[in-house]
Formats: sequence, C-alpha cells, structure tokens
Amino acid sequence: MARDMIRDILAREKPGGPVTVQGWARTVRAQKHVIFMQLNDGSCLADLQAVVAEDHPDFAALRVIGAGAALEVTGELAESAGKGQRFEIMADQITVHGDADPTAYPLQKKRVSFEVMREKLAHLRPRAKTFGAVFRVRNALSHAIHTFFQDRGFVWVHTPIITASDAEGAGEMFRVTTLDPVAPPRTQAGDVDFGKDFFARPTFLTVSGQLEAELYALALSNVYTFGPTFRAENSNTSRHLAEFWMVEPEVAFCDIHGNMDLAEAFLKHLFRTVLDDCAEDMAFFNQWIEKSTCKTLEHIVESPFERLTYTEAVDLLERSGEKFEYPVSWGKDLQSEHERYLCEKKIGRPVIVTDYPKDIKAFYMRLNDDAKTVRGMDVLVPRLGEIIGGSQREDRLDVLERRIDECGLDPSHYWWYFDTRRFGSVEHAGFGLGFERLVQFVTGMANIRDVIPFPRTPNNADY
Ligand code: ATP
Ligand code: MN
Repeated sequence: MARDMIRDILAREKPGGPVTVQGWARTVRAQKHVIFMQLNDGSCLADLQAVVAEDHPDFAALRVIGAGAALEVTGELAESAGKGQRFEIMADQITVHGDADPTAYPLQKKRVSFEVMREKLAHLRPRAKTFGAVFRVRNALSHAIHTFFQDRGFVWVHTPIITASDAEGAGEMFRVTTLDPVAPPRTQAGDVDFGKDFFARPTFLTVSGQLEAELYALALSNVYTFGPTFRAENSNTSRHLAEFWMVEPEVAFCDIHGNMDLAEAFLKHLFRTVLDDCAEDMAFFNQWIEKSTCKTLEHIVESPFERLTYTEAVDLLERSGEKFEYPVSWGKDLQSEHERYLCEKKIGRPVIVTDYPKDIKAFYMRLNDDAKTVRGMDVLVPRLGEIIGGSQREDRLDVLERRIDECGLDPSHYWWYFDTRRFGSVEHAGFGLGFERLVQFVTGMANIRDVIPFPRTPNNADY
C-alpha cells in the first residue's frame, strides 16, 4: 500500500479508510489491554497515534517495542477520543523495521537540554520535536528566498567557495591548502612557499560571495547568491558560527533607495511565508521558545520600515536619556543595544540606517559627497538588531582605488574587480542576510548553533 504522510492525513476532513504510516515511535505506552504508539514521520510537528488492540496477533511482542523504533502501521483511520488529536489509526498490520533499545535510546520522554542535544546528540536531535520544527522552518525559508528572487527574474549565481580574495578585508579566513603541514616547501627567505601550493597562491574559504556577485550583476542585472560562507573569527557567541549560509542579492542600475525597497519587500515576503505555510511549527515556537515571535513577525509584515541616516540615529540615541553599556558618539559603530533601542523603544518598527561613517564600513561602499560617509544600509529589527547589511557600491574607479589604498588592502588582488569599473560601470547595490540569523529570529531560538544541522564553532566539528 502507498505511504500516507501524517501531515496529509491530519489535513483530511473526515476519518475513514485504511492508511499506511511509516515513521518513528516517539513514545510507546503498553497498557493491559491496549498499546498506544505516538508516530512521527517528520512531515509535521504532530504525531499520529496508533492503537493496538489486545486481540492483535502480535500484541505480546509489540508491547516491548521501544521509543525510537522505525515502524510501518496500516489500519483504519478513526476518530480519536484522545485530547488534542482528531484521528488515530486502529492498527491492523505492523512492521517493525528497526527496533530501538528503550534502555539506551537517548531521546526518551524526559527533557534533554538543547546543549546536550547539540554536544552529544547532534546525530539524533532531528528526531526531537523542536529540531524537527526548526529544520522544517529553515527549509521553508530557503524555499521562500528562492521563490522571492526567481519570481522577480533574479539569476541564482553559484559563487566560489575557494577564493584568493578577502571580500571583507577583515582577514578572518580559513586557509585552503594541500601543503604538508609538517614540512611545507619554503622560500629562500624561509617562509612557507604558497607558490608550490595547489592553486600556486594562498587560498581561503570565502567570507562572502558579494564581489563575484557584483561581476554577474554587471552583466545579468539582477542576481543573488545563496551558499555557505566561512569566518575564522574566534567569536564564541550565540550569534556566530564558523560556517554559515548567506543570501546576497546584487542589482545593477539600482541605488541605495531601490536596495532598501528590495530588502524591505524581501523580509516581509519571508515572514509572511513562514506565518502562512508553517503555522503549526510557528505556533510551537510561539508557545515554547519565544512568546513574542509571531506577534513580532506579523507586526513587521504590516509596518513600513523607518529610514534614518546614521547621523540622525546617533542624534536620537544621544538625546534618548537612555543608559547604554557602550556610549554612543558619531564615528563609532552602533552596538546591538543601540539598534534594539531604536527599533523597540524609539521607533517601534524595523529601521533602516544609512550613510555610515566610512571608517567603520568596508571599502566597496559608495562614498558620499561629504567624503565622510558611505552609502551603507543596515536593516534593524527588534530583539536582534542588525539582520541585513548592505550598500550601494562604489562604481567610480578612481575613488575605489583610493579606498582600497586607505584600507590597506593590496590592489593587485582586485584587478578583476577594477575592470568592471573600467568597462561599463554603473550604479549598483546589494545586501547580505545571514541565513541562520534569519532562522534564529523567526523561530526565537536562543542559540544560532541550534538552527543549523551541524554547527561549526571554535573547538567543534565533531560530526
Ligand atoms: P557581526 O557584527 O554580527 O559579527 P558582521 O558585521 O561581521 O556581523 P557582515 O560582515 O556584515 O557581518 O555579514 C553579513 C551578515 O552575515 C550579517 O548581517 C550576519 O547576519 C551574518 N553573519 C556574519 N558573521 C556571522 C557568523 N559568524 N555567523 C553567522 N552569521 C554571521
Ligand atoms: Mn563579525
């Protein structure tokens, strides 16, 4: 018989008819005259209960099936008398594909902390309710990202993972090498000779696909990248990973205003989609993880984002009378406490801050006429602070060369980037959204390590 997914069964209007469910037992409760098995197949948060009656030929053997076992159950779909469930299966045929030793299975009823799940049970945690929900929402968000851009004619560009350039100029990159770590070839001066390395030059894992995306935007007009990025920063925080995914649209013939409109429409689309398509999982997060998450998302979808310059934002913060851990003054980067104050207390909606001092932003942002600020834009949301960082790019060759120089970067690494400013340069803009920060924000999960299947962080790549 064909398999029925639990999600589809629970969407039925009426009980009746035979169904076949394949899944894992969350719990098995053997009573004197009946066995209840809560089955979950990952298609949705809810379980479907299978009821095994005393007259079942395998009743005795089925009593000792363990939680975690992989089962296939065929039977009549009946109305359930149990609380909180509409249907149950009156089990007729049961196949035990793989039993699980109930004395050893780690995800028994008692609550296991997220930390233990992450550190010792990352291989089994997708079976836990919270993680099933996280990874379904993560999937829905990836799909919504592609839908948003594809519907608008954007081309998905697969930018390289191995690169010779440091896009952010921040120097926190993982080296990619095949040289012998014990006895690498040396130059006459005694340095490691990366000229003898696989790529005949030093290479790294990318920190961003932006520079390459720019090249493609300056040919295909509207593009985006969505792929893994890597940062060797030793940030042991609940918001940083060494390996994370980033979404980076890039648009030619577009200035910072078009870029802000795109970012606002993009976030609204993503939030609307999860609220509509992941209602069950979102209700779970709202009840158990973060009580304000659905309300916050609804509110963002319905509000126009406020737009402020950095100078105006600093002015508001200075006049706020608020006591901040990090004092504010013009020229310093905004901390998340400042960003949150602006969104949560001062404005009460998402805020896009633009025109930051050039000294706190990357070399590629377009310099304003005041020669002090650049056309950067950060989108700030409640609870999190910055969710998106972007800019209009510097499209003038002479200014770009000067900025590279000021930032102490080696211009010989960027000759290909300069070429796009030499041949058919045009104003263009884009932004980056850290995908795990997005999943974290939407679900309300406190630790970023719990929204990526296998987190890579300092001292941890065990799986
Ligand atoms: P932060 O100040 O939080 O370290 P950043 O300024 O280094 O962020 P960008 O270089 O602007 O971040 O990167 C773009 C986006 O990528 C950020 O807005 C954030 O969502 C995400 N991001 C950056 N670093 C990490 C990380 N280590 N782990 C997960 N996401 C990250
Ligand atoms: Mn950082």
